[in-house]
Amino acid sequence: MLRSVILAASRSGKVEKFVGSAPVSRDVVRRFVAGTGTPDALRVTGELAGSGLRTTLDYLGEDTLTPEQASVTRDEYLTLLAALREAELTGVAEVSVKLSALGQAFDEDLAETNARAICAAAAEAGTTVTLDMEDHTTADSTLTILNSLRKDYPSTGAVLQSYLRRTEQDCRELATAGSRVRLCKGAYSEPEHVAYQSALDVDKSYVRCMNVLMAGQGYPMLATHDPRLIAIGEDRARWFDRGPDEFEFQLLYGVRPEEQRRLVREGYHVRVYVPYGTEWYGYLMRRLAERPANMMFFARALASK
Ligand code: FAD
Repeated sequence: MLRSVILAASRSGKVEKFVGSAPVSRDVVRRFVAGTGTPDALRVTGELAGSGLRTTLDYLGEDTLTPEQASVTRDEYLTLLAALREAELTGVAEVSVKLSALGQAFDEDLAETNARAICAAAAEAGTTVTLDMEDHTTADSTLTILNSLRKDYPSTGAVLQSYLRRTEQDCRELATAGSRVRLCKGAYSEPEHVAYQSALDVDKSYVRCMNVLMAGQGYPMLATHDPRLIAIGEDRARWFDRGPDEFEFQLLYGVRPEEQRRLVREGYHVRVYVPYGTEWYGYLMRRLAERPANMMFFARALASK
């Protein structure tokens, strides 16, 4: 219930205006967001690399409404990739891209063209791109664009969400050689006919999907903070004899940092999803919806100002 209310608020311009004008503690945003610009993204990438963690960088922005806005986002990624290359960080950092930020809602061809430019720059810099997955209405379009991009840039990564009923089948189709697939639970509010509604069903689906990916030929990226699912991931790695170079764990910046370091100590590859940019509102609200304790953290910070 609380989750649905917060997710509805994440799409509300009025609530965004209110929260944006409230004296939100910088610490609250900074816990989950690296900062506003490319230098912040580089700084945090360097800091995490010092702890043996890799990153996937997300320039915050979604639901772009004009081609001009989409070009700004594309150019931000091009600037970021050039800066990562210059700083010799492409060995530890890749980028995550939302097609909605590149124009998908009003012109799918434009979104693909913009994504292609980012993939080309990433390939030139010696790193990769992963296409984030958004709400279920965009899934077919995103997977179609992914398949098209993979013809030229085979390492382009997909994201599949275990709360969607279709995902086990999508995993089967994508568990092929060279395919990079991030498996997460899913962060949007989805209707019953397309998505499992109970946490248990979402978790059970996650395990089924993980089994398919870990048994397959691709490179699974297990994105979760859930201790039970992480333990099952470790178990499946042993069972399917996958070495550290054959899969990775992924967690969000600011969430369970101790666990991120523990996994590194265990010898796993761990990648942290690091968002940066000024458009932090939708992202932060989805993180708050995931965990009531985060909501309390946010409320306390508001109250303390
Ligand atoms: P949850 O059910 O949220 O949490 C399970 C358990 O994990 C909790 O009970 C608790 O024990 C532990 N836990 C969770 N958070 C904390 C915390 N802050 N502190 C301590 N313990 C905690 N979603 C999309 O829809 N599209 C995407 O493209 C996408 N990309 C993602 C990329 C990465 C790297 C990650 C990690 C997530 C991504 N997500 C994406 C979000 C994802 O779908 C989930 O909404 C989010 O990860 C929360 O699910 P969870 O698996 O962590 O489990």
